[in-house]
Amino acid sequence: MRFDLVTIFPEFFSGPLEHGILRRAQEAGLVEVHIQDLREFTTDRHRTVDDRPFGGGEGMVLKPEPLFEAVESLLGSAAAASERRPQHVPNTAIVLMSAAGKLFRQETARRYAALERIVLICGRYEGVDERVAEHLATEEISIGDFVLSGGELPAMLVIDAVTRLIPGALGNEASSQNESFSAMAEQIAEKVRPVQSSVAKEPPVAATALLDFPHYTRPADFRGWRVPEVLIGGNHAEVAKWRRAAALEKTRRNRPDLLLRS
Ligand code: SAH
Repeated sequence: MRFDLVTIFPEFFSGPLEHGILRRAQEAGLVEVHIQDLREFTTDRHRTVDDRPFGGGEGMVLKPEPLFEAVESLLGSAAAASERRPQHVPNTAIVLMSAAGKLFRQETARRYAALERIVLICGRYEGVDERVAEHLATEEISIGDFVLSGGELPAMLVIDAVTRLIPGALGNEASSQNESFSAMAEQIAEKVRPVQSSVAKEPPVAATALLDFPHYTRPADFRGWRVPEVLIGGNHAEVAKWRRAAALEKTRRNRPDLLLRS
């Protein structure tokens, strides 16, 4: 998997890419991260990447030319080989980071993890000329309902979420299967439906996904707060049952929107 970051702040990424799973995944050759300085694709003396908005208003907008040229140069050979435009290069996503984009979710990360290449365009200022979303990017993605000052942190977050889904990136393969929003969590959510309705005599619960169950480690008694007894007992079936119920309870408490009463 190759990630290409298109940014006016190439130094931004040195820290986050050098730790933990991301560093190991690069060292193991599972992912490659290339950083493209947008200013290399400017033609004027001041290396201008932005301009004032048509129609007036506050702030500056990232110009289309350097962004198109940067992405076309990155995907040049792939695009030329198939006589296709960057938007049509197979197994490649060109993602514009945007507060006005579609929400990035675990299922988006899973879809991206199956690709060969992801180009991440980091906006700045008031945003990016709309023709980039329309004619260059294959998708416009938001990481949440809030506005940040640039697309660099959002792009980093996408790289992190996608990398840990690439086989071999996590030390323990199983660990991404049981997590919040995982495919496993979706299956469990399905199973939760009849169990919950019969036991609690409540209407059935359907869930799009479950959050992770609570984790505990030693000491078993910390300041008088004891680890649930069932986790210490060593009965695997009972532990699995407890974890399912606890995951559902936590989902209900923190993310009731994931549970749809039917
Ligand atoms: N005027 C825009 C915000 C621009 S913020 C608006 O109101 O929607 C500048 C840049 O930060 C954006 O171009 C985008 O690349 C990035 N950004 C800000 N919030 C983001 C979010 N929630 N998700 C993804 N990118 C975001």
